[in-house]
Amino acid sequence: MNASGLFGCLALPWISHLDVSNLILGLELPEQSILQPGWDYLLQYYQAELRSPLFPVIISISTYFLMVTIYTVLDLLAPSWPSLNRYRLHPDRPVTWENIWTTLGLTAYNHLMYIFPAAVGQWLWRPPIPLPPDAPSLMSFLLGILGCTILFDFQYYLWHLLHHRVAWLYRTFHVVHHQYLQPFSLVTQYLSAWELISVGFWTTVDPVLLQCHCLTSWAFMMFTICIAAEDHCGYDFPWSLHRLVPFGLWGGPPKHDAHHRMPGTNFAPFFSHWDWLAGTHLVPTSTEDTSVTEDLKWRNDK
Ligand SMILES: [Zn+2]
Ligand SMILES: [Zn+2]
Repeated sequence: MNASGLFGCLALPWISHLDVSNLILGLELPEQSILQPGWDYLLQYYQAELRSPLFPVIISISTYFLMVTIYTVLDLLAPSWPSLNRYRLHPDRPVTWENIWTTLGLTAYNHLMYIFPAAVGQWLWRPPIPLPPDAPSLMSFLLGILGCTILFDFQYYLWHLLHHRVAWLYRTFHVVHHQYLQPFSLVTQYLSAWELISVGFWTTVDPVLLQCHCLTSWAFMMFTICIAAEDHCGYDFPWSLHRLVPFGLWGGPPKHDAHHRMPGTNFAPFFSHWDWLAGTHLVPTSTEDTSVTEDLKWRNDK
């Protein structure tokens, strides 16, 4: 018997004893994530779909159209439903079918010209996504979404500020999004291709930078889409996130609506801290100045 064999013989009973003790006491064994049963179910029944490079594209598009469909139905009901209309930020300015078709037209164009080819490219050239057997812990899942949200908020704040302060950038890329003074949900993706690509790039790259689990990445993608649609929805519901997050830290629909009317304010997409620090924060009131500024000159609904 060589030395390692001898050591093995001596060590093995001790290790086995320790393992059994740990099993009994519940020590040193990795705690199973509360998300594990759901993740196991997805891996068992939907592994092929989850591994497809098309999966993130499909969940993003589905989430977007689900959100805008819900808000658009509310927009169409609101004029004849006063108890709903009172939650609208501009109850006297109903969303018209013309608004819906115009915004839907550009959304469809962007999807056909940019998102569909990008999705086909991913499908052809990107290898299937590896799926880890373990789900993330609930804490790492939530912290991952929070971390990506904070990072994206900073990136978009800088992008947004730059595209308002540099006149050429504004006229060439961002003015499209500002063609509506009072946004409604379909204005969310009423964007130039460059803005759409920038936003899509950060949404994809940020979870990679923060080394998130793929479940966290997909949840972050869906979360940003829901929040972007909410920011533009034109409603101030009692359950809106900006009413639940303390200290006015979350922007929400009223602040982004103010940005569309006063484009020198509220550049951040989610939080308010960058606007506080840079002096671009504005809490909208009913008496604010809505006169046409330099930034508003290219709008078509002023
Ligand atoms: Zn907007
Ligand atoms: Zn803007």
